[in-house]
Amino acid sequence: MTQPCGAILAIGDELAIGQSLDTNTRWIAEQLTARSLHIIEHTTLPDDQHAITDAILRLAQHADFIIITGGLGPTADDLTRQSLAEALSEPLVEDDRALAFLEDIERKRGRSLTPARRSQALRPASASIIDNPTGTAPGLRAVLTTTARVTHIFCLPGPPREMVPMFEGAVLPALPENPTHAIRTRILRCYGIPEADAAAALADLMRRDRNPLVGTTASNAIISIRIRYEGDPGAADSSLSETERQVRAAVGPYIFGAEDDTLPAVTLGALREAGDAMLVAESCTGGLTGAMLTEIPGSSDVFLGGWITYANEMKSAHLAVPAADLQSPDIGAVSAHTARNMARAALANAPDASRSFNRIHSVAITGIAGPSGGSDRKPVGTVFIAAATRDNNSGVLTDEVRHFLIAGDREDIRIRSATTAIGMTLHRFRNSSPETLLWQVAPPDRAEARA
Ligand code: AMP
Ligand code: MG
Repeated sequence: MTQPCGAILAIGDELAIGQSLDTNTRWIAEQLTARSLHIIEHTTLPDDQHAITDAILRLAQHADFIIITGGLGPTADDLTRQSLAEALSEPLVEDDRALAFLEDIERKRGRSLTPARRSQALRPASASIIDNPTGTAPGLRAVLTTTARVTHIFCLPGPPREMVPMFEGAVLPALPENPTHAIRTRILRCYGIPEADAAAALADLMRRDRNPLVGTTASNAIISIRIRYEGDPGAADSSLSETERQVRAAVGPYIFGAEDDTLPAVTLGALREAGDAMLVAESCTGGLTGAMLTEIPGSSDVFLGGWITYANEMKSAHLAVPAADLQSPDIGAVSAHTARNMARAALANAPDASRSFNRIHSVAITGIAGPSGGSDRKPVGTVFIAAATRDNNSGVLTDEVRHFLIAGDREDIRIRSATTAIGMTLHRFRNSSPETLLWQVAPPDRAEARA
């Protein structure tokens, strides 16, 4: 049995020229996928009647349903209803109920219905109206029969706040059910491994003919592993779980969460559960690490704060980094030595109240974000990150420094450095620290002392 499949058509000059982002297609695609409905195509078109008509006729050859957004308003560039009528080879007629709805809106606003606004009551002769509870332009629903198949067409207004309730109220219930076929996805989030290495470790799991299908995407140091199952709904859970087990066996130490988990949120959650807290000492990231952590609601009970020591004088004055070290050509501000000093000083400077936590973690970042400031020995992207932990019960202080060469432009390097600092903190906390993390160029330098 073939599975019902659909297409999404987004209409608007502003989308076609790149002025605004087509968020409708993404949202609708998520809804359809959650219903296990297969999507064959996303199309974006400008407000051009013939192009829209052609697209409707072409998609109807292949899709059981087409969801169209945009172009239903009252202005001259709103051409979706004309296009639908042309595709159906039908005249436009005025819908009594839509007309009454539009008249009522205008009456409440103390205005009369202009011809342009009245045109929103038009529908192709065989089409029906979809009520718009949050706006003016009604939607349209029609059936287009070709030699290939019968295609259900739904047209919704472009503004998401109108489109969403109409899709949920009128389109979703009318879409085909698919009781024999499930599409289900799980996502695992990883930090610390290059995407190519993750792919190599996953090996056969990523074969394109496999079900569940495993795929990866990388974004600013985070690798997302997607596990996508298609088939008998009854086997979905066990099949997904078995593949998840295999993925965990391959890259387990790098996995920090699933679905919508973020590295800062998971890190703060892990520290909170253990009764720990953390501090930051930032140079090249200028507070970005603290910003990423404080973006998480409830961060205040785990994240104590930190120091932004951008200038050398600030590193000396507030984090006790000796000026001589900073000036020394063999050490300098961007060095393992300075990063370690910053991380240790952050712990030493922590307020007395921090003694009430089981452990306190600090992370310090110093590097060259560029575009200038690099040298042969320390090119742009050179970043040293030190993570230190004081166990308040045993008095033992441990730390580690890692040397990275981070890829990208200034913005990338700053974001990736901050992400790496948080990732290093989590890996240390979990005792799962791999010897080499993403972009790391030398083995970690670890030390232990009495605090
Ligand atoms: P419309 O009058 O139906 O063509 O759409 C009016 C407004 O809806 C546009 O100016 C956009 O702000 C928004 N809009 C239209 N299409 C989309 C889309 N695909 N994704 C997000 N917003 C959209
Ligand atoms: Mg438009």
